[in-house]
Amino acid sequence: MRLDPDTLLIVNVANVLVLASTLPVIMGRQLSAAAQAARRSLMFQGAGWVALILSGLWPDTWLDHLLSTFSMVCISCSHWLMFQAFKGWLGPRPFEKLLLGTLILMPVGYTLSFSSYPVRVGWSNLFIALQLILLAQAVLRPSTSLGGRWRWVMFGCLALMAVLTAGRGIMGAFFTALYPNFTAPHPFNLAALLVANITLVLANVSILVAWREEAEWELLEQANMDPLTRVLNRKGWNQAASSAFAHARRHGLPLALLSLDLDHFKQINDVHGHEGGDSALRLFGKVLQSGQRAGDVIARIGGEEFCVLLAQGGADAASGFDQRLRATLEEEAPRQLGHSLNFSAGLACLGPKDDSLGTLMRRSDAALYSAKAQGRARLIVAIDCTPVVADVAGAPTTSL
Ligand code: GH3
Ligand code: MG
Ligand code: MG
Repeated sequence: MRLDPDTLLIVNVANVLVLASTLPVIMGRQLSAAAQAARRSLMFQGAGWVALILSGLWPDTWLDHLLSTFSMVCISCSHWLMFQAFKGWLGPRPFEKLLLGTLILMPVGYTLSFSSYPVRVGWSNLFIALQLILLAQAVLRPSTSLGGRWRWVMFGCLALMAVLTAGRGIMGAFFTALYPNFTAPHPFNLAALLVANITLVLANVSILVAWREEAEWELLEQANMDPLTRVLNRKGWNQAASSAFAHARRHGLPLALLSLDLDHFKQINDVHGHEGGDSALRLFGKVLQSGQRAGDVIARIGGEEFCVLLAQGGADAASGFDQRLRATLEEEAPRQLGHSLNFSAGLACLGPKDDSLGTLMRRSDAALYSAKAQGRARLIVAIDCTPVVADVAGAPTTSL
């Protein structure tokens, strides 16, 4: 059995085109930006390969030059879109600017050096290999959202293609006689074409799995999120706040819990309608989030009741948070709602007797109740709200 580079190339292009046109059918129109970028990346990949094959029909003409350069632009765009897909699925990825640089330099250098085969093949393949390495590192870096094993498959595909592409670049640049054109029957070229076919299929499977994982992640997020205010709901609160509570207790870190309740909210609904009430809730959620720091947990516990768990902060941090919240609302509520918006707050700090999140919440609720009883629009601090330090064993003990 003999492997023939022309056939492998045509099968590869047929595969890319079939996959690029099937993915939109499978995935539908309602796609996230990340899934859309991944799908478009494949389309550019297909267009690039087609242009490269077509360029071979008019060797060493202006059309060859034009189509080959267009092919390099498509491949650059394809890699950029793939990076955007990873960014959307996995969060910010490093080396984006470096990738952008290579995406521009690659086709520009290629077209300028078109008359010299060794230079243009060496240049383009080495830059494409660098792009693939940047994509490979991007997919493997830790992520706070999706983290499935598809990332390893994708990494393997990208890393393997990077090695083979670099090899092709070195051969074209320094051993031109062995690799005089894209379909040279050199064993290395045959291996590269064969692997390109396999990695194409595997990379597509990875894209589909990432897409499914994205849907699962969204469902999970929806289950824990309040759709009106975009802060956590009670279920999300129970999970996030319990683990923050356990962490603070284990390490003897201070922890403050604010229970917040909008004042006379029924009246706001009566005067401004349910829509007006909803806008007030949305604004409150937004203002709460604007003061959020890493590790803080914010949730809508019930109708117009919210909780804020301030990680690594004691009574001072919490009352500062309360004051900033009041100041922002005083400014923003009349501007955005056309009326003032006040709230009452109760503050409790993690103490030695708080063996669960529930006990801490009961104390902050009691303080909130006092704030209501004392005339609303104020913060009441639970009596034993004192800083907590760790004893030798790491168990929390109260100072003072
Ligand atoms: P207080 O100052 O004592 O807290 O009085 P209040 O009127 O704020 O409290 P109360 O518990 O009597 O009323 C809360 C109101 O919040 C009643 C309910 O109709 C309204 N509410 C609960 N959930 C929503 C919501 O999602 N949207 C709107 N617009 N109103 C809601
Ligand atoms: Mg209320
Ligand atoms: Mg209430």
